[in-house]
Amino acid sequence: MKMKKILILGSTGSIGVNTLNVIRQFPERFSIAALTINTRIDLLEPQILEFKPPVVVVKDEKLAQELRKRLKIKCEVLSGIDGLIWAASQLDYDILLGAMVGFAGLAPTLEAIKRGKRIALANKETLVVGGELVTGLSRKHKAEIIPVDSEHSAIYQCLVGEKIDSVNKIIITASGGPFLHHKKEDLEKVSVKDALNHPNWKMGNKITIDSASMMNKGLEVIEAHWLFGFPKEKIEVVIHPQSIVHSMVEFIDGSIKAQIGLPDMKIPIQYALSYPERLESNFQKTCLPDIKTLTFFAPDVQKFECLDLAYQVLEAGGTAPCVLNAANEIAVDRFLNGEIKFSYIPRLINKTLEKIENHKSPDVETLFEYDKLARDLAVQL
Ligand code: NDP
Ligand code: MG
Repeated sequence: MKMKKILILGSTGSIGVNTLNVIRQFPERFSIAALTINTRIDLLEPQILEFKPPVVVVKDEKLAQELRKRLKIKCEVLSGIDGLIWAASQLDYDILLGAMVGFAGLAPTLEAIKRGKRIALANKETLVVGGELVTGLSRKHKAEIIPVDSEHSAIYQCLVGEKIDSVNKIIITASGGPFLHHKKEDLEKVSVKDALNHPNWKMGNKITIDSASMMNKGLEVIEAHWLFGFPKEKIEVVIHPQSIVHSMVEFIDGSIKAQIGLPDMKIPIQYALSYPERLESNFQKTCLPDIKTLTFFAPDVQKFECLDLAYQVLEAGGTAPCVLNAANEIAVDRFLNGEIKFSYIPRLINKTLEKIENHKSPDVETLFEYDKLARDLAVQL
């Protein structure tokens, strides 16, 4: 395998840091073309010293200026959305690792797709909002999208060597998050600290709240639809609290394939970088006798309304997933700031969806317009 140059969007986040942990192991195979972040320059600075990227992008202009003053080694510091777009559309790299959070990741990812780059995609909101557009352009420009999300990596791995028409359904596993055993009425009272206390995964705040509301699983259903092309009837969600079976594929002969391993994002990240090869790693291996029990049961959609809302917008299509995503981003932000109750998250999304008319087959400008419309309305509501 020839040396691959990686552009990481969101290098200071949970996925970004895990990606650097993978890259650190294989200096002969991967190098860094650029790192991009929003504001946390204190975390970026040691990454620059270690990985020596020729370019970094700090979205915040003032903090970019501050970093320029501080850096003693040669590294170009760009800023703003323009800097992000420039990096994705002009730099020399082989793989874009999309680990920004939210809708903000869509524009730079589209630039990489238009250049036919491999996209190792963690930023699921990009596919939720722009699934039709993103997959259409990726086919046109022959840009491979390899999922980093553990469930989708599992499904991708189960599908290797299989014919798509021999698939009966895909089964996405969900841990159920910190409120799996709470009663619906108890969700009125949960705190930010309770919601951030995920039982199995250490992740960024936004996805951790999405996991607690099960919106994360809803977004993953939509993500799976666009990645693998199955209708919603063929995408099932199953609760699996141990997070050892990362997802499964059921075939028409009744056989089910699963991908199994410890909950460690380095494994799907490495697979997305090295596919179709597998590289020997020193990550902790799975000892099944230590795990002992694997359990599975159906999710409670009465309690986790966000999951049901996601299936509804997948059915509706058009701009509905974009509106759901924007309202969810606002709701999560407000909840994290202590401004709304946890149980208000699905209500706010539902109200926003009810008030915005659906636009079928949106182009990129329409998506930006609806994203803004939905955010403004959600803030007002
Ligand atoms: P984090 O919040 O930990 O990190 C987000 C990264 O993106 C940070 O580097 C942040 O910079 C940067 N960033 C955030 N907003 C912007 C913006 N508006 N413009 C430019 N840069 C921005 O998120 P995670 O790593 O947890 O998640 C990243 C994505 O991967 C999400 O879409 C999530 O759903 C998905 N994902 C995450 C998993 C996980 O295990 N964490 C698992 C599966 C999917 P700064 O540090 O400066 O704020
Ligand atoms: Mg996931």
